[in-house]
Amino acid sequence: MAEPATVTPVRISEELERSNQRPDDTSLIVHPQRRSSWGWNWRYTLGVVGIAVILAPITTVATWLGLGEAPIDTTNYALRTRRVLESTPLIDGHNDLPWLLRIELQNRIYGGRFDPTQRLLGHTDINRMKQGLVGGQFWSVYVHCDKAQKHFEDPSWLVRDTLEQIDVAKRFIAEYPDIFTFCTTPMCIRNAFKSGKISNMLGIEGGHQLGGSIASIRQAYDLGIRYITTTHNCDNAWATSASTVAAGGEDKGLTAFGAAYVREMNRLGMMLDLSHVSHQTMRDVLSLTQAPIIFSHSGAFAVTPHLRNVPDDVLRSVRRNGGIVMAVFVNRFLNMKDPSAVTIHDVVDHIWHLAEVAGWEHIGIGSDFSGTPHTPAGLEDVSKFPDLIELLMARGATDQQIRLLVGENLLRVWADIERRGREIQAEGSKPVEEEWEGRKWHTHYRSSPYMYRSTREKAIKEGWGEPNQFNVGKTGKHEEKIVKADEDI
Ligand SMILES: [Zn+2]
Repeated sequence: MAEPATVTPVRISEELERSNQRPDDTSLIVHPQRRSSWGWNWRYTLGVVGIAVILAPITTVATWLGLGEAPIDTTNYALRTRRVLESTPLIDGHNDLPWLLRIELQNRIYGGRFDPTQRLLGHTDINRMKQGLVGGQFWSVYVHCDKAQKHFEDPSWLVRDTLEQIDVAKRFIAEYPDIFTFCTTPMCIRNAFKSGKISNMLGIEGGHQLGGSIASIRQAYDLGIRYITTTHNCDNAWATSASTVAAGGEDKGLTAFGAAYVREMNRLGMMLDLSHVSHQTMRDVLSLTQAPIIFSHSGAFAVTPHLRNVPDDVLRSVRRNGGIVMAVFVNRFLNMKDPSAVTIHDVVDHIWHLAEVAGWEHIGIGSDFSGTPHTPAGLEDVSKFPDLIELLMARGATDQQIRLLVGENLLRVWADIERRGREIQAEGSKPVEEEWEGRKWHTHYRSSPYMYRSTREKAIKEGWGEPNQFNVGKTGKHEEKIVKADEDI
């Protein structure tokens, strides 16, 4: 692990003043010159000397002699930040804009109804993404837990609405081909960045959105989803959520079926996201997974003891696992006593702690912009990412550590997960066919043209009748024994 660089401590007010005074960036960028040959004619030499005299106030003797990379004032955080973000894509792990398309526009984005090239209210639009030097964005494809669904097997709109969110996110991305590229691989992010585009990726924010079905996970992957947040604020067929524990529920961690979920995520090479899960679920997954995991938007529990944040023992496991914790900007996760007092400095504190315990190689940024009503003072919207980077530098982060934080770690982790998936598939692992223990399939049709004699005999013997499409009785209520199964989850 790289150690933080030692710099003279700077008062916060000074940091802010400096970060607000952004100099003309080009003024200090001096390109190294080729070493001169002694055989050059004197006019050229005089010319070089003349230019050097002009440049002398803003450069160093070593630089114009071409003795190395142009050094800059290391306390010029604005310039350092710009240099880093112009050569490394800043990839934000979590933004909920597609949810707003749903609830504000019913996913109708054409005909001028939605124009993110204009200044919008809230946290996100294209100009502010550019201002914030955003290189890649994971859009969250989110649908809230269905309170009416008492049983994971209940017929529900969750999977349909998730498909609609994938659809609208892709249509939104496709509307701006000069600005956005839809990516499903880390290599795509690098290529998009090289060609000056913002890469756009999709993650599903909750296992409930897949109807407790592993087949649904595979289809989500085929549609371009690249991470699944294991739970949102409700338990599902494979895991316990942090919200359940916060509300006084027992932390049952991963279910038996959850182990099959982990196996399939590993096999697919899909990023398994542990933001929103209970602490026991985090530990259970980390003990089982054969690939690195991610936290797409979480903070440090030791700094703010909110159950959405990651405890230190888990941070140490993430270091061993090779995964990444992407720091969140949600006020109530950063200060439980007084969320309204949260500032950008609280985010710095969280990132610093994550880096100290998990290591600079295992942290990233996952804002939750457009998904949370209140963000820290100083981090009001997507244009403010550079301000955060400047403060981290002022606290002592090196350029290399910042490169890891903003994007290199995520790119490495994702590539590792992909590679592990390919290895597992090469070993001959078939798609996982396991199902939740409470899962009920259609009861049998009397007159189906069965393939097997044994089925036909059984159908006659048991007097199979009309099919029962769902696992629900005529009253809309579950049969007693299924409700009991639910209590076991
Ligand atoms: Zn969330």
